[in-house]
Amino acid sequence: MSDMQTEVKKATGLSMDAIAALRMKIRGDIIQPGDPEYDTARKVYNAMIDKHPALVVRCVDVADVSSAVGFATEQHLEVAIRSGAHNGPGFGTVEGGMVIDLSRMRGIRVDPEEKTVRVEAGAIWGDIDHATYPFGLAVPGGFISTTGVGGLTLGGGVGYLARRYGLTIDNLLSVDMVLADGCFVTADKDHNEDLFWAVRGGGGNFGIVTSFLYRANPVSTVYGGPMFWSIDEAKALFPYWQDLILNSPEDFNGFFGFGMIPPAPPFPEMYHMQKMCLIVWCYTGPLEKAEEVFKPIRSFRQPAIDLAGPIPFPVLQSLNDAMYPAGYQWYWQADFFKQYDEAAINLLIERAIELPTLFSLVHVYPINGAAGKVGSTETAWSYRNANFIQDIVAVDPDPANNERMIKWAKDSWAAMHPYSLGGAYLNFKMDEGNETVKAGYGDNYTRLAQIKAKYDPNNIFHINQNILPMA
Ligand SMILES: Cc1cc2nc3c(=O)[nH]c(=O)nc-3n(C[C@H](O)[C@H](O)[C@H](O)COP(=O)(O)OP(=O)(O)OC[C@H]3O[C@@H](n4cnc5c(N)ncnc54)[C@H](O)[C@@H]3O)c2cc1C
Repeated sequence: MSDMQTEVKKATGLSMDAIAALRMKIRGDIIQPGDPEYDTARKVYNAMIDKHPALVVRCVDVADVSSAVGFATEQHLEVAIRSGAHNGPGFGTVEGGMVIDLSRMRGIRVDPEEKTVRVEAGAIWGDIDHATYPFGLAVPGGFISTTGVGGLTLGGGVGYLARRYGLTIDNLLSVDMVLADGCFVTADKDHNEDLFWAVRGGGGNFGIVTSFLYRANPVSTVYGGPMFWSIDEAKALFPYWQDLILNSPEDFNGFFGFGMIPPAPPFPEMYHMQKMCLIVWCYTGPLEKAEEVFKPIRSFRQPAIDLAGPIPFPVLQSLNDAMYPAGYQWYWQADFFKQYDEAAINLLIERAIELPTLFSLVHVYPINGAAGKVGSTETAWSYRNANFIQDIVAVDPDPANNERMIKWAKDSWAAMHPYSLGGAYLNFKMDEGNETVKAGYGDNYTRLAQIKAKYDPNNIFHINQNILPMA
């Protein structure tokens, strides 16, 4: 054995023979401690998470995924599944275990006749937007284009098109999966219906999805983008916006937020580093009517900065990409809301005034309209009665600010939580344990635990918002 091989064996407990046997089965990459790529391969988007897996297996096809699962089981390795690596608590990596990294599996096929899109599970949302836009189609994703298709979809998927076309899971038609025993299955409304129900919101608990089939919807150039106002206007604007969201047609959407203005173009210098309130719009109705739709909004309170207008949907979805590159520190908190009363609005503004860093944010995302029309037991996502998701996120490049910004996020969540519906969208939470997971699924948790017991009784897939198999 070379010195390097001895080091790897010591660090991972894996014999060279075992690794050699795995290499015979895997067409993708096997990356271990000591490999030149290891430090890049082990990293996830949130730099607060710093783990050292024994192996990162970058799969290129279903056979690779199945072999990787088999190897992890034989070797008693913990398994983390990674698609876009965006997960807040860093469930895309694991200390001493195996990362099954799907990022080389990014093939996409749009069927413009059927209006469907087949997407391999390592794609990011920008890949789907790029592939569907030339056909005048889009799949509801999130509010940024760098997030992975895998984690976002399996957790639910909240984005600009939620009021018009529902959550991402409401547009999911079928999944191909590798289960805990290495078997391959398809789940859709006619096959493995229980599994198909569970993966629509139940996260990565049930197996590894290798590809998703989505319904695509007619979306092309929309009327959207941000408007910013002085934070002093928030008391009047928030209830005005809330009323619009609760009473407007489904083609009208926009999330309310608070943030600091970056010291860079296109923002006028006089607003640099100011805390402001904002709405980022996405109107998918007839473009010729858009100016008329937004006229009363602009005259209710004239925006200090107005960047809304006709915009190709993929451009809207990627507006924030540059502001949030990989490698910052992230701490997430979230809640579901039915409605904000005056006290809740005032409190939210008070917390937002204390935003701790340039990159930290408070956002309130609408999930009524089409997303709210699906029944609470039709998919694993149970909070269909909520109209809003509140996201309080502390973000900064410098770990020296962590203590201060995490305290702000925790205190803000604690202040707002009593006004909420109880549980939270788990894709916007850190790793808080089983009580938070249960609260996130409400009455659907018991059925999820039963399905978990059927498909993953030994909880092989537990590096996630973990649903415990029912005993
Ligand atoms: C900057 C940023 C913006 C975001 N914006 C939105 C938004 O607009 N809307 C929204 O809904 N969410 C949003 N999120 C949250 C996001 O949905 C979650 O972080 C999600 O987990 C990211 O998915 P991923 O594939 O990139 O993550 P990964 O870290 O790769 O995966 C996260 C977990 O998902 C599961 N998983 C991933 N792929 C698979 C698979 N193929 N099979 C089985 N399990 C799998 C695994 O449990 C895995 O550990 C955002 C996150 C960030 C960091």
